[in-house]
Amino acid sequence: MRSIRRELESQRDALTNRISTSTRSTQDDDHRREIFKDPFGMASITHDDEVVAAVVDTRARQVEEIDRALADIDAGRYGICRECGEEIPKARLKILPFATRCVGCQGRLETGLGRAA
Ligand SMILES: [Zn+2]
Repeated sequence: MRSIRRELESQRDALTNRISTSTRSTQDDDHRREIFKDPFGMASITHDDEVVAAVVDTRARQVEEIDRALADIDAGRYGICRECGEEIPKARLKILPFATRCVGCQGRLETGLGRAA
């Protein structure tokens, strides 16, 4: 159990580092020079920023999932589905160490959210 915790913590650290690197790269000097050189290239710059924002958003959500899994380890319920209370199969945890729901509940949640929105 201790090694899973370490694994999750290093994944979270890596994601956090990448988030701050991506955020910084949108404000770096190259970008500003680009705008000066090509004032009509704004569309592509905006697009790049949107892509970065989407990537940062996905990573931020992964960090949240990892935090939740770490909290589960602390609470002694790691590997238990948050929705139905069943054990999450080990094979799934191997692929997704921060999974907090079984495949069935995750699927239901995602389709349910789609319908609700
Ligand atoms: Zn479940």
